[in-house]
Amino acid sequence: MEAVASVSQERGLHRVCPGCGVDTEAVHFCERCGRILPTPQGLDYFALLGVEHRLDLDPQMLERSYYALSRRCHPDVYQMRSSEERELSLEKSSAINVAYATLADPVQRTEYLLKQEGLGVDQAGNRVPPAIAAQLFEVQEALVESQSGERTLEMLERLAACATQLQADAERSVERLTQLGREWSQRPDRTLLEQLQQEAVQLRYLRGHAAQAVAALAAGSEQSQVREA
Ligand SMILES: [Zn+2]
Repeated sequence: MEAVASVSQERGLHRVCPGCGVDTEAVHFCERCGRILPTPQGLDYFALLGVEHRLDLDPQMLERSYYALSRRCHPDVYQMRSSEERELSLEKSSAINVAYATLADPVQRTEYLLKQEGLGVDQAGNRVPPAIAAQLFEVQEALVESQSGERTLEMLERLAACATQLQADAERSVERLTQLGREWSQRPDRTLLEQLQQEAVQLRYLRGHAAQAVAALAAGSEQSQVREA
């Protein structure tokens, strides 16, 4: 019995409430006296916000969970309390904000979960997805062209067409990612996760290149304004 208690204590799940002395596994507040508690080690963003570990989270439910927690942890509430409690409220508030910012965005949520599963987007991100390789090559060409020599209207039009196409493709990629996430939440299997990883990598490339094309266009139109003036 002793050994079991000390193991779960080590993992930070099982603690004694400093307020009332009750044994507790609560994440944020003692169930008996309501005191703010140290956050157990190693909790993921889903557990931190008290929501299910799935990709098809209901945004309103997530928002409600976040607001309820963030009101209760708010440092203003702890102004007259011990320094330990004030410290905990600051720590929790900032951890909750980071977790919410990540989970509230479907793409970031997916990337976060993939990373938890050892399928991070960065690890797989060095290879251009074959399905969009030709398209990206064309964009690269247009970008190089726009950076060297004089900018022609034709060049800017080509860049604008690339940017529009990339943005539309990125939107479709987000839709596929959302759909796959929904499927995985119903039926969590590894193949779906691997498909999610591929889609997430592809989306990064599409968004990255779209941003570059838009930046090059902005630079291009500034230049032509200067020329006209
Ligand atoms: Zn207590």
